[in-house]
Amino acid sequence: MAELQPIEAALAALLEDVAPLPTEVVSCSQAAGRVLSEPVLARLDVPPFDNSAMDGYALHHGDAGQTLPITQRVAAGSGVQPLSPASCARIFTGGELPPGADCVVMQERVEKKDGLAVIPADIPAGDNVRRRGRDVRAGAPLLDAGIHLDAAALGHLAGQGITEVAVRRRPRVALLSTGDEIVDPGQPLAPGQIYNSNRPMLRQLLERFGAEVVLVASVPDDPEGTRATLSRAAQGADVVVSTGGVSVGEEDHVRAALESIGRLDLWRLAIRPGKPLALGRLPGKGGRPVRFVGLPGNPVSCFVGAWLFLRPLMGALLGCPALAELPTLSARADFATSTGPRRHYMRVALEFSEQGIVASAFRDQNSGVLSSCVGADALAVIPEQSHIARGDALDCLWLRVG
Ligand code: AMP
Ligand code: MG
Repeated sequence: MAELQPIEAALAALLEDVAPLPTEVVSCSQAAGRVLSEPVLARLDVPPFDNSAMDGYALHHGDAGQTLPITQRVAAGSGVQPLSPASCARIFTGGELPPGADCVVMQERVEKKDGLAVIPADIPAGDNVRRRGRDVRAGAPLLDAGIHLDAAALGHLAGQGITEVAVRRRPRVALLSTGDEIVDPGQPLAPGQIYNSNRPMLRQLLERFGAEVVLVASVPDDPEGTRATLSRAAQGADVVVSTGGVSVGEEDHVRAALESIGRLDLWRLAIRPGKPLALGRLPGKGGRPVRFVGLPGNPVSCFVGAWLFLRPLMGALLGCPALAELPTLSARADFATSTGPRRHYMRVALEFSEQGIVASAFRDQNSGVLSSCVGADALAVIPEQSHIARGDALDCLWLRVG
């Protein structure tokens, strides 16, 4: 029987030769959550002109301390005239600073007398002015390649008047479920059958990791059906993911199918949950190698395996470094536990208190108990061959990522 492989070896095998997918141009209105494939340079200064940060009066700071006539009114979006000497302009937030003015006094500090504005003394140049180009300078880098287009990034693009961006094509994933006992919700359950929890869970995670699920299919527990479905799935996909059927039982046909039509890179990992996980390649269209990730059937193993393997794989295909590694927080265990030769990824809730971050483990950490994943904030990493006492510091992989 194959040796248990460390997760690092498995990740290296999975990500070997994975190149980012081609670029496509999409409308910014459709670009939320996509990954930029090229850096974007600023076309415009933002703000594009000096403007007022307050409702008030614009003047030259040399005229502060005087009573000034109000020679123009500047609302946001209206045009401006050069400011006449020794006068001020009534101005509103976002209004363009008239040429000749260099500061704004907020209206609460200005008294009106006989139609004139009584300006307090000592107003420095630049006061309450948002300078042209303060946020972004035309020609400067605006957004880096490889970033996720989140809310702020989309706002930043719109601030430039940009309507289209170059993004990575979404990884196309075929999602297969093995198991003759597995039934889709909506169907009646016969004796011995269970509903398919893995499919909707993995679909959601894959989409969250930036993928497009292009095929879902059920695989019968027989060698021929498994080979045929794996082959077909690889035709239209960049990645084939299956669940179940990778262990050593007589009804586990995925590994043999992979070995006969593709290539098995590695299976049996030194992790818990998720030991019987198979990684390899299948022949895709024109013989192109398609990554294969065979997750175990237990829903918890699928959940953990998706975070540990599918997320970095999507990160590599999308050229998105932020997806490649999960952020790690250090937290104090509020439990005790021990491990043997396998690294344990415990599902924990994190509590942020004044004393620091505390990790509490879900009561039942069995790999069949999906309730341990519901509400999990993080995966606490318990190293191989270790004893953890209450209060010990743990590395926790943060799951509440965007
Ligand atoms: P297997 O890896 O095929 O031996 O499956 C391990 C366990 O996970 C078995 O108890 C299966 O019934 C269960 N299982 C497999 N696939 C699914 C699924 N899609 N949804 C829920 N449970 C599953
Ligand atoms: Mg099975």
